[in-house]
Amino acid sequence: MLSLWFMGAEARKQNPQEKPVIGISLDIKEGRLTVLANYVRAVEAAGGIPYLLPMSHDSASVAAVIQRTDGLIITGGEDVNPLLYGKEPIPQIGAINTERDQAEEMLFKQARRRRIPILGICRGMQLINVLMGGTLCQDIPSQWKGDGSVQHSQKVPKDVATHSILIDKTSILHDMTGCDSMAVNSFHHQCIDRQAPLLRITARAKDGVPEAFQCDKEPNIMGVQFHPEGLFANDKACLHILQYFIRQAKTRK
Ligand code: MN
Repeated sequence: MLSLWFMGAEARKQNPQEKPVIGISLDIKEGRLTVLANYVRAVEAAGGIPYLLPMSHDSASVAAVIQRTDGLIITGGEDVNPLLYGKEPIPQIGAINTERDQAEEMLFKQARRRRIPILGICRGMQLINVLMGGTLCQDIPSQWKGDGSVQHSQKVPKDVATHSILIDKTSILHDMTGCDSMAVNSFHHQCIDRQAPLLRITARAKDGVPEAFQCDKEPNIMGVQFHPEGLFANDKACLHILQYFIRQAKTRK
């Protein structure tokens, strides 16, 4: 039903069989726009149509693109520029990418305005927190106030879960997974420090590091610090997270 896709989300709503189109944000590095294939495979496996978003800084273009999507995934990547949350960079910060920060800010704002489901993954979760008024811990090993007992930069591939998280029983994440705790993969040296006023932390690692949030006022906005797109093939809970998100995208008002 390609013709319906070109007619946009409004037309698709009249055909409930149509799969939702899920926009996926890209990275830019050395002049190349890239995305890990796992994101594309995961959206397909969960019942959506993956749609790679252009990295545009033109608001009319971004609005037109978001108009054609039913859900947005803000993907993982490098560190968010700390000037965006009013901090100077500490020596331990990794590479930043202001061009990407700005492009994803436009995507997020347009998607939020349209109230389509938004899933921030890893850096995407951190960026949403910053864009909604929160701050980040720039480097867990040197800055985190917890006991530092959990390794968050795992040395094994993405399809291996290495640390556990505890999930709030009253959260959407709990509805999605049916789990009080689960094992996740972990590829981050930063995390949420102060959460944005509208966000609620719904899962934490055992050292207290935030691993998921939701927005009770705008339940279409959610973030996870781990990578369900790397685990879904052999972890039902991660597949269920993605399927729940795709269903939200399909049935949104
Ligand atoms: Mn972690």
